[in-house]
Amino acid sequence: MTRRQALTVLLRSLSVSTLLALRHTGSIPRLFAAQVAPYVIPKYSGARMNHTPSSQQSANPYRLPQHVVPTHYDLRLEPDLTTFTFAGKETIVLTVREATSEIVFNAVDLQIAEGSIGNDAKVVHRGAIELEPSTERCRIRFATTLHPGTWKLDLSFTGVLNEKLRGFYRSTYKDAKGNTRPLAATQFEATDARRAFPCWDEPAFKASFAATLAIDPALTAVSNTPIVAERHEAGKKVVQFADTIRMSTYLVAFVVGELESTEPVFIGSTPLRVWSVPGKARLTPFALEIGAFSLKFFEQYYGIPYPSQKLDLLAIPDFASGAMENLGAITFRETALLVDRQTATHAEQERIADVVAHENAHMWFGDLVTMSWWNGLWLNEAFATFMEMAAVDAWKPEWQRWTTFGVSRAVAMSVDGLHSTRAIEYPVIAPKDADAMFDVLTYEKGASVLRMLEQYIGPDVFRDGVREYLRVHAYDNADTGDLWTALGHAAKQPIPDVMNGWIFKPGYPILIVKQDGDRLTIEQQRFTYLAQPLSTSGIEANQRWHVPVQMRILANGTSESRRLLVSEKRTQIPLPERFESVVLNEGGHGFYRVRYTPELLQRLVRLTPHGLAAIERFNIINDAWASTVAGLMPMTDYLDLTAQFKTDRDKNVWEIILGSLHTLNRIIDASDRPKLEALVRDRVGPAFEDLGWIPQEGESELTKQFRAEIIRALGILGNDQTVQRRATELYATPGSVDPNLLPAIIAILAHIGNDARYREYVQRFKQATTPQEERRYLYSLALYQPRELLQQTLMKSINGEIRTQDAPFMVRMVMASVYGRELAWDFVKQQWDTMDRLYPKNGLRRMCEGITGLATPELERDVRRFFEERKIDLGGKTLEQYLEQLRIGVTLRERDGKTLAHYLDRSANNTPGTIKLDNC
Ligand SMILES: [Zn+2]
Repeated sequence: MTRRQALTVLLRSLSVSTLLALRHTGSIPRLFAAQVAPYVIPKYSGARMNHTPSSQQSANPYRLPQHVVPTHYDLRLEPDLTTFTFAGKETIVLTVREATSEIVFNAVDLQIAEGSIGNDAKVVHRGAIELEPSTERCRIRFATTLHPGTWKLDLSFTGVLNEKLRGFYRSTYKDAKGNTRPLAATQFEATDARRAFPCWDEPAFKASFAATLAIDPALTAVSNTPIVAERHEAGKKVVQFADTIRMSTYLVAFVVGELESTEPVFIGSTPLRVWSVPGKARLTPFALEIGAFSLKFFEQYYGIPYPSQKLDLLAIPDFASGAMENLGAITFRETALLVDRQTATHAEQERIADVVAHENAHMWFGDLVTMSWWNGLWLNEAFATFMEMAAVDAWKPEWQRWTTFGVSRAVAMSVDGLHSTRAIEYPVIAPKDADAMFDVLTYEKGASVLRMLEQYIGPDVFRDGVREYLRVHAYDNADTGDLWTALGHAAKQPIPDVMNGWIFKPGYPILIVKQDGDRLTIEQQRFTYLAQPLSTSGIEANQRWHVPVQMRILANGTSESRRLLVSEKRTQIPLPERFESVVLNEGGHGFYRVRYTPELLQRLVRLTPHGLAAIERFNIINDAWASTVAGLMPMTDYLDLTAQFKTDRDKNVWEIILGSLHTLNRIIDASDRPKLEALVRDRVGPAFEDLGWIPQEGESELTKQFRAEIIRALGILGNDQTVQRRATELYATPGSVDPNLLPAIIAILAHIGNDARYREYVQRFKQATTPQEERRYLYSLALYQPRELLQQTLMKSINGEIRTQDAPFMVRMVMASVYGRELAWDFVKQQWDTMDRLYPKNGLRRMCEGITGLATPELERDVRRFFEERKIDLGGKTLEQYLEQLRIGVTLRERDGKTLAHYLDRSANNTPGTIKLDNC
């Protein structure tokens, strides 16, 4: 799955659209499951099940016993898009491993009418069905004993096409005439296949699936595999799909509606298509291009052909996450797949490239080889994130994807710097714990430590290890230990020694660097923002990591790179004569922070910008800001440091600086805001004076995006009236600006906007012609200052005007706004039950991230009281993490608020008013 991005620029992306249909019939051989790619060694099926006798099943009430396992599902579903219900029948081929009279599988929100079991002797037994809603399981008891061997379980059932964007659900969109049209789609990860059909809904119960859909003849159906037969029967179109490979239930997918597809692009023999609701064909070429490139890239990297027969990428108008890697039928939010290249920003295009590459990478990592249980989700998601970077970097080297990945790494480090963080591998018990695993630690920290390992053992060795891992575990499940084994063979060294500390332990180190005469001393300790944990769950004293360190030492006018594994608490290395300075984390691949002594830091800063790589400058400012928030660096030193970055022109470096200024904006008193605005103008002004409003010939995409970011910062956080006036003029003359600037201009106008502008934007949002345009106007509705306008935005988040896939993010944005936070928090308290009823799963969890912005002591107390009284659990450690982040914000205010106010007073006396007009 692709998470919604929750990076420093709060929130990106949303969507609108539909699907299309497979029309080829019969031309592709059935039973692809039997065709094992020549490079792949299938393993004994069920190898990961570790068959436990039924009498000694695990104490976890959510888990299934393993004495009966499925090998194949014949599944027929009949969705009705007028009544929003579905009926289903299935035959599951089972292996009974141990004599039993009882079968247990998963089912929830389904009515199961009858269940019977038979075998080759044609003996059929009816069973008594007992649903267990609290554990999402179903038990069938038979009057007779089922002996070990092969059995066939027949079930018939009905369900509802729900509105919660999970299981088998409904989506709606407006067609060209403005009529509302329905669509049915599935989202099964992590544990929602059980809402569409009874099944063994754990990733290790792999089986093949043969799906048949009976639908309205006017509609189209898409599933994981090609259509092998289509016939008409009792007024329905009956569409039969080829067997899948052996795979997990969470990867099964169906989409039914009025769908259109592009012509296929062939990658070898694999046809690749992009699907949407009708009328969006012009928005598909970009996704087709990156889809084709990345599929080819992965076939070469993994050394294994694409593991299915066809690949469809489908844009769904309502979709809870970013995208979902259903084998052969990947589903997306519209904003993550459909785009008009001419009008989209670099960031919007990069997002689509990332997501398409990510999902394609999953066809191997996740689909062909799957983690045994959700505690190992990182094997899917960290790898898909890592491979997404690798593919996009190969596709567009000028985008410098591995450098800009620094921002994602920084977000992971901010969560992993909490006492309430968790290890990348973390116990999962209930379904909601599985859902909580889809976070920055699994994705971004996971990908970061993989990148660190890749750089440590070498990219070719790493790739060879990955190939072995996929080859050995194809069509099966695997654990982290299996990956270490494969990488260890390739690297000819034990991997667990280095890596276990990063995967099985929470947190990461800060390396404290000092010069002691002719030696450099490096000390490691765990980095945390708060000195004391909030709870007794505490941190392990003296935690150590094996840190692969790459450093560059400058001495005597030359530089020398060195690599070492820092494993001890304290390490010393000799320095060359005439030592000048040292950069730790050269190249920026390490998942650790560095704290230099003030003198070493100053020597480095003197090298900026040209003497250090962008990622190295990024790390210096990012680590300095984290140290400031943690109370390790004085606030005034940090603010002085930002002045030394005025000459920097790297977008990511500025993302950190601007993010820090946004944080300060949340903790200052309103009366000090004009002084902070002046500071923003002082810091950002020189870059804007260099770049102006108009792109230069030959300018890079990154520079164009950077220009947009600084203009946005000046117009909003800097409250620069000249920039605001110019933005207003440019907005009034459409087509006059670089597309990268338009979202910034729209946001600035919202920031200063009145009721009339608000109404105009609502119309623009509703009539948008691309998913990106829709999203820009939608998100702008959270950026107004007047309370009554923000109140309207909040109401739209529960009255159906804003899709439920987007509504939680809108509320989160208003909570993050200094103009709307109290209002939004009151609204959340009042409307909690309504939101809980309306929003998709994970909606409340994502919305609640907004509480981290409520950084006043009074609001913090109220927030804690609310969650305690309501006994709310957001799954995993989510709520604990949000509350700790809130505590950090309040601590920063209490500790540094006065210092900050004095600093702003001093600097207000010598900073410019607004930007010079001649650059506009
Ligand atoms: Zn994913």
